[in-house]
Amino acid sequence: MRKPIIAGNWKMNKTKREALDFTQEIKGLIPSTETVDAVVCSPALFLDALVNETEGTDLKIGAQNMYFEESGAFTGETSPEALADIGVSYVVLGHSERRELFGETDESVNQKVHASFKHNLTPIVCVGESLEQKEADETAQVVTEQVEKALNGLTDEQVKKTVIAYEPIWAIGTGKTASADDANDTCAVIREVVKSRFSEDAAQAVRIQYGGSVKPANINELLGKSDIDGALVGGASLDPQSFLQLVEAGNE
Ligand code: PGA
Repeated sequence: MRKPIIAGNWKMNKTKREALDFTQEIKGLIPSTETVDAVVCSPALFLDALVNETEGTDLKIGAQNMYFEESGAFTGETSPEALADIGVSYVVLGHSERRELFGETDESVNQKVHASFKHNLTPIVCVGESLEQKEADETAQVVTEQVEKALNGLTDEQVKKTVIAYEPIWAIGTGKTASADDANDTCAVIREVVKSRFSEDAAQAVRIQYGGSVKPANINELLGKSDIDGALVGGASLDPQSFLQLVEAGNE
């Protein structure tokens, strides 16, 4: 039985004060990490404050991106070492907005995944097809290639710890959710890729989230599916009570 993981992706939203108000409101209400993992991925600027604020609670903090090099002349970037040093637990890698707007490639995502393991950060690796690719019936092919490239060179043990987020791009921030059955079918494709590239054990252990307009009204149906182990949530994670409801759905 895989433990559900609900992660909020705040994107470029909230001020530090708003971020702290959010965590203060719900940090004591989050169910135990023994039954569900609850993660908030905030802008880099407040990670340190949020890690301090949530210390000793079951709410974990994640970054939305990082660079793969340890340190050096990379103006504007955040190093994996610095994230690990302040106590960040997770890092979202290869989100479609980073791929589309900031030139992230499958190769750089792979380098970042390796760097995350080097620093004990759990990667949440995002994959997903565009509307055009969906309409051309290329979803399985696109996510297969993205998963193979992102996980290339990892050990079985690392793959077991990886979280993969299947996020159809056309469903992100649009209010359009993939049907629970379609989302599950693609998550099953991803699990098969892990099985064929790594092992049956790795495929059974790797957690696969669905993302794209997840909200309290549709999360139960999604989590009820065999291959969906959690959700990566943008819009509906910005409100503390809505985020809490999503985490509680994962705890059922
Ligand atoms: P959304 O975003 O829930 O607002 O659709 C999901 C994401 O981009 O991770």
